[in-house]
Amino acid sequence: MSRVPPVMSGATARAAVVAILIAGGPIAAAGAAPATAPAAQATAPTVVRCGRLVDVRAGVTRRGVTVVVRGEAVESVLDAGAPPPAEASVIDLSSLTCLPGLVDAHTHTFLQPGDYDVQLLKQSLPRRTLQAAAAARALLGAGFTTIRDLETEGAMYGDADLRDAIADGVVPGPRMQVATRAISTTGNYALLGYAPEVAVPKGVQIADGPDAMRKAVREQIQYGADWIKVYGDYRTFKPTGEILDLRVTMTPEEMGALVDEASRRHRPVAAHCYGDDAARQAIRAGVRSVEHGLFLDETTFRMMLEKGVYYCPTLTAYRTSYDENRTDAWKKVDDAHRESFRRALRLHVKIASGSDAGDFPHGNAGRELELMVEYGMTPVEALRAATLTDADLLGWQDRIGEIAAGKMADLVAVEGDPLADIAAVRQVRFVMKGGAVYRDDLGRAR
Ligand SMILES: [Zn+2]
Repeated sequence: MSRVPPVMSGATARAAVVAILIAGGPIAAAGAAPATAPAAQATAPTVVRCGRLVDVRAGVTRRGVTVVVRGEAVESVLDAGAPPPAEASVIDLSSLTCLPGLVDAHTHTFLQPGDYDVQLLKQSLPRRTLQAAAAARALLGAGFTTIRDLETEGAMYGDADLRDAIADGVVPGPRMQVATRAISTTGNYALLGYAPEVAVPKGVQIADGPDAMRKAVREQIQYGADWIKVYGDYRTFKPTGEILDLRVTMTPEEMGALVDEASRRHRPVAAHCYGDDAARQAIRAGVRSVEHGLFLDETTFRMMLEKGVYYCPTLTAYRTSYDENRTDAWKKVDDAHRESFRRALRLHVKIASGSDAGDFPHGNAGRELELMVEYGMTPVEALRAATLTDADLLGWQDRIGEIAAGKMADLVAVEGDPLADIAAVRQVRFVMKGGAVYRDDLGRAR
């Protein structure tokens, strides 16, 4: 969670949930679209005819390409004119542009737009889990076939269950890597501001001291964490956007113990850091990614370059705050964020694409690519961030990130040409994940 969402009444919150479900589009029922193609289907290929196909690695658009899918993987990508396998069933996307399935490397499926405290205090875990399932469905409908979900905001280990339920075909959604609860220190995460006599839940797991850090990491891994998420710094915002206080949450010993314990168990660490002090401490300790990085200078980015640390700026969350509130303070945050992003781009830091969806409706996650272009990337650079770079960040570079022989058959088709106008990534008409069709607005499912 990153920003202070506007207060929303119960009635509005319910309307937003319905809107999320509708925004997901006509996704096939889970039973009709298994996450893993049954063995019986593995022998019958499907060919997907693409009007255009964006080759994100080469940075070009190819016309008339046919993608041959067998089981859950791409068997081959055929140039225009090459004959497809004779016995194949055909999906005709010749009026659309095909892209690799997109990755959102920073989501919160268990967080919905609306009052943060109300979600933790008044909504049961079953209710929040149902909403998370709807959020996962909306992300998949928007073309995100893989996500890194970076903490449940008080919903404990629900993300590990959602990940597994999606993988088992119980509910539709992207394949997931999850962080479970995230870790911060006493006084450095919501809920805050209640009387000391009142016990309130926390949006993260609170731990103090190096030994407690190690124990928290062990617990989270025990219950399914693929990543450890840590709060390197924490801030209090006023709703108008002024940052009242930005403080480093941990001693170097605490951060060091956390990262060391995670590394020993082969779990990468994602560090929420707004400012240089926290980011440098986290980078020194050995984290894999720095999240948000609103106010990072050149020295910090050079440290990231040296150690191969990824920058996941999550532009959408802060821009949404500015767009909704239009205050000078939010403008200053957005301006500083844009400058940090441009600095990273100029220095060739590895920039991942993650939106922080949850602060805003999950179906809008594609806005991140538009903002990356608005703030200085070319359209193909933004598409690479949300495919090849994110795949590297997740350690799944051999499975996802492009439409290529041997990789998962994750394919999205959109209206228009995203290399000419990146906004086309939000005109999704078709989504295939692992060879199964989850959305087909043209009604041409097998
Ligand atoms: Zn977040």
